[in-house]
Amino acid sequence: MSSEKTPTPAASNFIRAIIEKDLAQNKFVSRKWAGKPGDASEHAKGEADPAKIRTRFPPEPNGYLHIGHAKSICLNFGLARDYNGICHLRFDDTNPEKESQEYVDSITDMVQWLGFNWQNGNEKNLYFASNYFDYMYHAAEMLIQQGLAYVDEQTPDEMRANRGSLTEPGKDSPYRNRGIEENLTMFREMRDGKHSDGSMVLRAKIDMASPNINMRDPAIYRVRRAHHHNTGDKWCIYPMYTFAHPIEDALEQITHSICTLEFEDQRPFYDWLLERLAEAGLLAHPLPKQYEFARLNLTYVVLSKRKLIQLVEEKHVSGWDDPRLPTLAGARRRGYTPEGFKLFTDRIGVSKADSWIEYTILEDCMREVLNLQAERRIAVLDPIKLVIDNYPEAQSEDCFAPNHPLKPELGKRVVPLTRELWIEREDFMEVPSKGYFRLFPDNMVRLRYGYVVKCTGCEKDAQGNVTVVHCDYLPDTKSGTPGSDSVKVKGNIHWVSAQHAYECEVRLYDRLFKEAHAGEGDRDFLEDINPNSVTLIAAQLEPSLKDAKAEDSFQFERHGYFVADRKDSVMGKPVFNRTVTLKDAWQK
Ligand code: ATP
Ligand code: MG
Repeated sequence: MSSEKTPTPAASNFIRAIIEKDLAQNKFVSRKWAGKPGDASEHAKGEADPAKIRTRFPPEPNGYLHIGHAKSICLNFGLARDYNGICHLRFDDTNPEKESQEYVDSITDMVQWLGFNWQNGNEKNLYFASNYFDYMYHAAEMLIQQGLAYVDEQTPDEMRANRGSLTEPGKDSPYRNRGIEENLTMFREMRDGKHSDGSMVLRAKIDMASPNINMRDPAIYRVRRAHHHNTGDKWCIYPMYTFAHPIEDALEQITHSICTLEFEDQRPFYDWLLERLAEAGLLAHPLPKQYEFARLNLTYVVLSKRKLIQLVEEKHVSGWDDPRLPTLAGARRRGYTPEGFKLFTDRIGVSKADSWIEYTILEDCMREVLNLQAERRIAVLDPIKLVIDNYPEAQSEDCFAPNHPLKPELGKRVVPLTRELWIEREDFMEVPSKGYFRLFPDNMVRLRYGYVVKCTGCEKDAQGNVTVVHCDYLPDTKSGTPGSDSVKVKGNIHWVSAQHAYECEVRLYDRLFKEAHAGEGDRDFLEDINPNSVTLIAAQLEPSLKDAKAEDSFQFERHGYFVADRKDSVMGKPVFNRTVTLKDAWQK
């Protein structure tokens, strides 16, 4: 045996490695926190920041959250939790046009549903970027005063033409050398509504020859007369996202600003801007740092807001919370669980390279969690009658079924047995195929938690379809009684008493797209919609399921995991959605 010391385990992903290194170097200990977002002078009056790190989840309230956002939420809130930090929920609402309160509400709901919250003691770390418009305006004036921003009156076409290309440098705007005073006056006029929409923009003055096109004097403010859901008509100029976002991070003292890869080329501007504002005294070091990871791409779904909106608006699905959609509202109705999403996030990790994650990985995570959480119940999804001819007509007796095979402490429940039962149609074959062990004439099977029965025949309708199966039971074989296993059988089938069954609508959901990469190549993604993504059936369920409350999850034995629909279930009359099958039915 080796006597070497076990090496410290490597951080499980590159972002954790960065945070652990930063913390080991005491990079953030000098930070102060004023109890709310603010500039350097405001934070300087505060105490040492109690949060070892600060992260944020910054959705734009212009749509519903999807499974990709769940990854970002679990990542950001999870890092804060694991490193004694705080994660902010920040609405990145600097773009007035597409944002609304409806989206704000649904986003806060879903973050809470995932099990995270922004309340830290008395402090509520839920912020709106639009509350920082005054700071942003002030930051823009500071840049102008340093000679680092100018008002450009070129038309959008001229600006585009003069921006250059990957191989050619850009050309300076004729307005680039306007004096500081003139720039200030004009920017204030922009703010005061003296100029029309689109007539001019404020641009950072950096380098029109930079190899990074994002550094060729990016626009930072535009004139736009639009009503804003939070600030109303107070502003007719709005900051560009690339200008606003670093300032939001800095005001909130974010230490690690984690975003997706498409912002990698923006990082030089992020750093440039914050350094200039620190030089001007608005911000203090250490400044936030941006880190990029690959966004989640998941097979068999689409995670683009634009495509999701199209699916809803063109009514390919029933709404934002359609259980087939990859929205979190849909996933919740489908019976996916917060614990399943956390497991999924941990399992897929974070990487720097774009890739596709197989949908089955997500389903496996949901199965794993539900297997432990969900109580077992009996459901007959494709019912056919089984009559036990030698069982007394008026009799009913209790059988006992364990609620959870792995958790005996959850006890057993009563399932009544009577002369007429519902069984699965596929559990009977008049002429059995090879290796078929269930019901066929003269064969014996065990009625799960009940008796061994021997099949005696069946009845058929005029078309030759089996309508009723007949059997006799062996009275000494009741499960759980002495000698019950004296008769050995190979088959074991589930059933519910016809007299007691709860007949109920069950929705069997399948994938919304039949192709792994919907819309790949030149195909319209709508062409790849799976035409059979939902099947409604009338099932016969064991009577205890009548008491299921909305969002209760169960394993229907042999079938999979099902949840009582949170929208359509009423007390005493739940309807069920299939969350996921027991095994991966799509595996070839
Ligand atoms: P938009 O096109 O409107 O910007 P978006 O999907 O980026 O759409 P945001 O509301 O800006 O939506 O996203 C909030 C956060 O969620 C961002 O930090 C973003 O990086 C993250 N995010 C969005 N989509 C994914 C994804 N597929 N995988 C991982 N993170 C994502
Ligand atoms: Mg975005």
